[in-house]
Amino acid sequence: MRTPRTAIIIGGGIAGPATAMALTKAGITATVHEARPEGADGNGIMLTLATNGIDALRAIDADGPAIAAGFPTPGITLRTHTGKRLGVSTTGGALADGTLSHTIRRADLYEALHNQAVARGIDVARGKRLVSAQESTDGVRAVFQDGTEAHADILIGCDGVHSTVRRLIAPAAPVPSYTGLLTTGGYATGVKVPAAPGSYEMIFGKRAFFGYALAPDGQVWWFVNIPHSREPAQGEVETISTAQWRERFAEVFAEDTGPALELIAATPDFAPMTPIHTIPHLSRWHTDRVIVIGDAAHAPSPTSGQGASLSIEDAVVLATSLRDLGSPDQAFTQFEMVRRPRVEKIIKAAARINNNKAPGAAGRLIRDLMLPTILKLTATAKGVREVYEHHLDWSTPASTTRTVRS
Ligand SMILES: Cc1cc2nc3c(=O)[nH]c(=O)nc-3n(C[C@H](O)[C@H](O)[C@H](O)COP(=O)(O)OP(=O)(O)OC[C@H]3O[C@@H](n4cnc5c(N)ncnc54)[C@H](O)[C@@H]3O)c2cc1C
Repeated sequence: MRTPRTAIIIGGGIAGPATAMALTKAGITATVHEARPEGADGNGIMLTLATNGIDALRAIDADGPAIAAGFPTPGITLRTHTGKRLGVSTTGGALADGTLSHTIRRADLYEALHNQAVARGIDVARGKRLVSAQESTDGVRAVFQDGTEAHADILIGCDGVHSTVRRLIAPAAPVPSYTGLLTTGGYATGVKVPAAPGSYEMIFGKRAFFGYALAPDGQVWWFVNIPHSREPAQGEVETISTAQWRERFAEVFAEDTGPALELIAATPDFAPMTPIHTIPHLSRWHTDRVIVIGDAAHAPSPTSGQGASLSIEDAVVLATSLRDLGSPDQAFTQFEMVRRPRVEKIIKAAARINNNKAPGAAGRLIRDLMLPTILKLTATAKGVREVYEHHLDWSTPASTTRTVRS
């Protein structure tokens, strides 16, 4: 099979536009097909764009607008429900020029990447929901819900945790794993929180997990993870009104110290409540001409703070593999070999933290005793450095193993 010249990208979230820009840089023409008719959804509120994600964006000259839309986050202060400080969870050290991990609204990151892709002449078609795809010896045909079709040498599924492309590649693959947590959040104005501008706090509440960041303009961005053991049926959480959620939050945070209730009261509307799913292990990421990357292949829990950054890393590694290795199947195999160990290690570590988000009284006691020591030990640990200091060099041949910055 020859080197691909054209690619259909399914999904215009984070991996989609990043991959389109990386492929363009590698000399492959890419078009992005996004199901949403317009704009980014409000899910997720904010995320950490970690230094490894910023480094990967730099490999495709796309870091500037994303960084400009967020603010630096040197670390995340963890507290108990009584307000006791447990320590600081690292967000990695600084890049060589002093750039730190950044907190950014999820929608702003989507927009920053989308706008850059469009500015580079990449065709982004919205309202295009992929329903099926067929591979043949001369390429891939994608069929969309609106009846239109597209054809290219390869197809890359960047369509998130509930991926259609994944189902097409591996119909028997397990469904995404439900973490037992629901999440929502919002933006509160006019509340004075006990934190400095740019700081990020997370609270192990007695019954739910609460996080907030104070943006430089004084607005407070917050999210909540609420335990909910039974996986909600599709559409079920959407039937619960904002007023009902307010009542539920009033109960859940009643015994916690901290600004949760005040912030919730000062927020006119919440992001849609979403069950959190992960893809811990997918046995097959690709066929000869079709591959899944980003959350579609390996969704970590949001606790990792790495989902977006890993998706951007994927984009760069896939593009350099296709640039250097000729045939798509060879490039896809190399990509999977390089990426799988890294992403699955990060996913496993995040799953362990999720279990700490709403333990019983005994679990809380052990966690609160152990966590300060664990935080001190992990801040400089090799495993943490490997996550945040992962460096991608555009000019390095794809067959060379990736390194940690020294
Ligand atoms: C609540 C929450 C908090 C998070 N916090 C963090 C964090 O702090 N740090 C971090 O790094 N990550 C975080 N993440 C994870 C991060 O958002 C994801 O890892 C990241 O968005 C994955 O990027 P992606 O492009 O693979 O998928 P997505 O961003 O989900 O994009 C997938 C896109 O595909 C589109 N699509 C789906 N199906 C189709 C179809 N059939 N046809 C066409 N288009 C389709 C969707 O509309 C969507 O735009 C969080 C996620 C959530 C939900």
